[in-house]
Amino acid sequence: RRYRKTIIAGNWKMNKTATETKQFAEELKPILPKAKWCDVVVCVPACNISTAVRAFKDMRVSIGAENLYYEKSGAYTGEVSADMLKDLGVKYVIIGHSERRQYFGETDATVSKKVHAALDAGLLPIICVGESLEQREAGITAEWIALQVKSALVGVSADKLRKCVIAYEPIWAIGTGKTATAEQAAEVCTAIRATIRSLYGARVARSVTIQYGGSMNPSNAAELLAQPDVDGGLIGGAALVPQKFVDIINAAN
Ligand code: PEP
Repeated sequence: RRYRKTIIAGNWKMNKTATETKQFAEELKPILPKAKWCDVVVCVPACNISTAVRAFKDMRVSIGAENLYYEKSGAYTGEVSADMLKDLGVKYVIIGHSERRQYFGETDATVSKKVHAALDAGLLPIICVGESLEQREAGITAEWIALQVKSALVGVSADKLRKCVIAYEPIWAIGTGKTATAEQAAEVCTAIRATIRSLYGARVARSVTIQYGGSMNPSNAAELLAQPDVDGGLIGGAALVPQKFVDIINAAN
């Protein structure tokens, strides 16, 4: 674990107005632990990034975006570029969340382009991978995840890989209240590190933060985060409540 950062990141999805963003920050401030043991990130809707950067300024909280578009600029109505995010003070960006793959047509190819766009702009991508229930039941989880990881990292140098975070999020566990067991999470996270090792070697592989995501909450976080290759969490629902978010941060200690 000493080779890599533990990262606890909230994924707010399409939740909270700018006003509610400020309220969350105010409520979090007095209860946020010093948390030397992990980096704390909140990923917020694009329209609330400026508000979040200001609201969390004096806290040990980095701001993340939930998506970007991979082109530098131009006629892409409604989209937001990596440089725009970087300029606002964004540090992390979630790439390829299963909801984006499911509802917004993201593919391994667009995920790869977005990873490059993020890295080129100096953002740290949180790359999401995960299998469906159907795939798990068919016994193809390992192959599927390895393919997603390899596809997302095509053309990424070892130096750049050190800036990447991988989030293992089994689709069947997201927002369902069904958490992967600690063994299931550990098994896949360990397999992801093995895939990275096969591509980049052991030294690089041990430096990469691999998160688990999927109904992580204050009661299951400690066990999940105790697994050797689970280096943090990407948290949806529970991250919307300051006290629950803090409890998960403390569980990472
Ligand atoms: C997520 O969408 O990244 C997630 C893990 O959501 P939840 O914690 O609500 O399952």
